[in-house]
Amino acid sequence: EPRWLELRLPSLPENVGVARVAVAAFAAQLPFTLSELEEIKVAVSEAVTNAVVHGYGHGQGVVTVRAGHDGHRLWVEVADSGRGIADIEQARQPAFSTDPERMGMGFAFMEAFMDQVDVESVPGAGTVVRLYK
Ligand code: ATP
Ligand code: MG
Repeated sequence: EPRWLELRLPSLPENVGVARVAVAAFAAQLPFTLSELEEIKVAVSEAVTNAVVHGYGHGQGVVTVRAGHDGHRLWVEVADSGRGIADIEQARQPAFSTDPERMGMGFAFMEAFMDQVDVESVPGAGTVVRLYK
């Protein structure tokens, strides 16, 4: 039984769905309910969308998605080498967005649907979001 997964994806919106289904299939090795698997899909989609939209914007980059489990707990890491986040605490506030067209709810969904969300970011170097459930 595989216990880890690693995907390297070009930063294209189409790849949000690729990451979502891959992580959901991986997570299905654990005894999650269907609604928990849906929550994982939403959280992963939000993190990968952020990497594509905010991390790289219109530029091209690589989004790396890693996941693992120990038979009980799932972790998912979404990493980009994009522009980074200047103020992580502010970015995580519900309804905060640097884009006036967006709702600023991505991190709020990640936090609502996962047990733990860790964010590391260096402006100009990139961002890593770790999700646990
Ligand atoms: P929504 O997710 O509702 O479409 P949003 O993406 O702006 O809106 P969040 O996902 O909560 O909201 O992210 C909040 C802010 O954090 C973003 O507006 C952006 O400034 C910053 N951010 C999030 N992820 C990244 C990332 N990978 N790289 C750079 N900035 C990021
Ligand atoms: Mg978002």
